[in-house]
Amino acid sequence: MHTSSSSNGRRRFLRQAALGLGAAALAGSPLPALGKSAQEKKLGVALVGLGSYSTHKLAPAFAHTQYCRLAGIVTGTPDKAKKWREQYGIPQKNIYDYHNFDRIAENPDIDIVYVVLPNAMHADYVIRAARAGKHVICEKPFDVSVKKAAAAVEACTRAGVLLQIGYRCQYDPYHLEVMRIGREKVLGELKLIRASHSFFGVHGNNWRFTNKALAGGGALMDVGVYALQAARYSTGMEPIGVSALAFNTYKDKMDGMEESMLFTLKFPGDISAQLFGSYVAREEFLDISAEKGHYGLRPAFGYDPVQGYVLDQPMNFPHHNQQAVQMDAFARNILDGTAVVASGEDGLQDMRIIEAIYRSARKNGKLVKI
Ligand code: NAD
Repeated sequence: MHTSSSSNGRRRFLRQAALGLGAAALAGSPLPALGKSAQEKKLGVALVGLGSYSTHKLAPAFAHTQYCRLAGIVTGTPDKAKKWREQYGIPQKNIYDYHNFDRIAENPDIDIVYVVLPNAMHADYVIRAARAGKHVICEKPFDVSVKKAAAAVEACTRAGVLLQIGYRCQYDPYHLEVMRIGREKVLGELKLIRASHSFFGVHGNNWRFTNKALAGGGALMDVGVYALQAARYSTGMEPIGVSALAFNTYKDKMDGMEESMLFTLKFPGDISAQLFGSYVAREEFLDISAEKGHYGLRPAFGYDPVQGYVLDQPMNFPHHNQQAVQMDAFARNILDGTAVVASGEDGLQDMRIIEAIYRSARKNGKLVKI
């Protein structure tokens, strides 16, 4: 077991509990109301990379945020800049490209830079944003290596800015309820976690399927990371070993990248997690077996509203816009000086485990210590 990460993970889990970010807190109103002066200052967010996630999920989410607003964009495509400027009323002075991006340091309208680029570009832009003195949200996965993710954490610490990884599920009431049940041992000790985030789509020509340098890996990096996250936050523990099998069947389309990753995490004691991330299956769920019964989420990780069950009873929480709740929580961390839940250290720990998963897969499933 990686002792320091393990105790870090436990501390993170306890801090989350101490911050009161439980399902009950989110169920009624997403976050407690701010005073008038703070409400007047919605923090300005600049989205870096105007691809699918920015266009279809993040930009529309600002219609639901209370503490932040879409204030700027960073894009290499002039046509997109024009379209977004008109659609969202973004002033020209808040529009950057990848070359003049560092001048964002001089722009008081921008409080938060949100990096929504291909995976291997994440750490570089987090570091540039931190050097510009901006707080940063970085999409998952953190980057493509422990080394780069650690450098990004270090840059944010040195600059004194906050860093959040775009782990939207950690702010969702259903996932928070899963954490609570595990933490409070409502159904006794946990024994087995099973999770999959998979969709059918190897036919795409997006960088995530075709460009290993940008993607860093296949389905594990993109979707398997949700299952990995879920195993960690539902147990509140860190894995001590992993056995993994990678499937690279579509070599003509996904050169050197797995279309599926099947991995088992061993936790301390007799707890294990059987996890899957894939581009050739249609499923997404989190099922947890505890001493006294089952609970879980299905669907769990995609964009359809999360549904959950405890024993044979449905969970019943309001559905909030996940991206809005995640961004608002980060804005509140900045305004209130509180700790970030989905922190850079959390994302860095996932990168450590992801590297161990790939090491095991290269050895055809040999157990690798974490
Ligand atoms: P996308 O391909 O649709 O968008 C990527 C953007 O980066 C495009 O606007 C592209 O023009 C830009 N870009 C800049 N430099 C580039 C380069 N050298 N090569 C390729 N593109 C370049 O991807 P996406 O689906 O929006 O994913 C972006 C990031 O967001 C990924 O890291 C992904 O994992 C993450 N994501 C997170 C979620 C979530 O639910 N949290 C969902 C989707 C994507």
